Amino acid sequence: MKHMKGLKTFWRDLFLAMLMIFMVFMSKALVTATGAEVPPSDWELVVLGIAQDAGIPQLNCQETICVSIRAGQRKPEHVASIGLVSKSRKKAYLFDATPDFVSQVHALTGGVSPDAIFLTHGHIGHYTGLMYLGRESIDAARVPVYGTERMTRYLTSNGPWSLLVSRENISLHVLTPEVPVNLGDGVRITPFLVPHRDEFTDTVGYMIETPRKRAIYIPDIDQWQKWTRGIRVLADSVDIALLDGTFASASELPGRSMADIPHPLMPTTRELLRGVRASVWFIHLNHTNKEIDAKDVVREGMRLTM
Ligand SMILES: [Zn+2]
Ligand SMILES: [Zn+2]
Repeated sequence: MKHMKGLKTFWRDLFLAMLMIFMVFMSKALVTATGAEVPPSDWELVVLGIAQDAGIPQLNCQETICVSIRAGQRKPEHVASIGLVSKSRKKAYLFDATPDFVSQVHALTGGVSPDAIFLTHGHIGHYTGLMYLGRESIDAARVPVYGTERMTRYLTSNGPWSLLVSRENISLHVLTPEVPVNLGDGVRITPFLVPHRDEFTDTVGYMIETPRKRAIYIPDIDQWQKWTRGIRVLADSVDIALLDGTFASASELPGRSMADIPHPLMPTTRELLRGVRASVWFIHLNHTNKEIDAKDVVREGMRLTM
């Protein structure tokens, strides 16, 4: 009997061992099969701010939105910026360095410098956050900053930005319009020139590509008609379009001519892009814009799967 019992235990243990080997083999096969067919991707675009360069509320602003923010009934709106982030790859890229840079980097990475910063142009809401990389702040070491030849030349030849360059707080990378920057893992960033007031620098928008999706980011442009490239064709070729939503109406700024600060109006852009493939979102809204709560305006903290 003792012998029989030992034999029974032997067969049971052998069966369990075989079962475990089989299960381990199957789970490995599944991972391999899944991995081969659909590479896992956790790239996301993160909205870090939605306001025009000067944020909301602006100084002197008596609009309802500014009054309610000052009264604590609504949160302030940070300046327009987005991040491209992948937790699994531990990578985070920032688009524009705004005056709200510190809190935006905190939201994007938890507070460490991003892996690179891509600048659109030299207006105050788009590059002045670089100051937080300098000696009076974290005294950063060679944070990669991408910009056009004019943008990088502007930083190199004007203080206080030139100090960031000479002290190697930032390392400048010159972008050539229409030439992609490969960031590895099939992620590419391609700048393209757009017409915009160019007092100090020219202006670019960006095509952001992962192996799965493509997005365009154009926070500032004078008029779609002034652009040699058709926005409709472009928006039809991408998944996500984050576009200049500065103004919704030509009567928003009494006493200031729209000719001085031209931007496509939101209703015009909606009409122009009706039915395109991309999901169209507005960003970079002025404090006067009455459509700030519209469904097609991005919200801070929004994450769009890439
Ligand atoms: Zn702007
Ligand atoms: Zn601008």
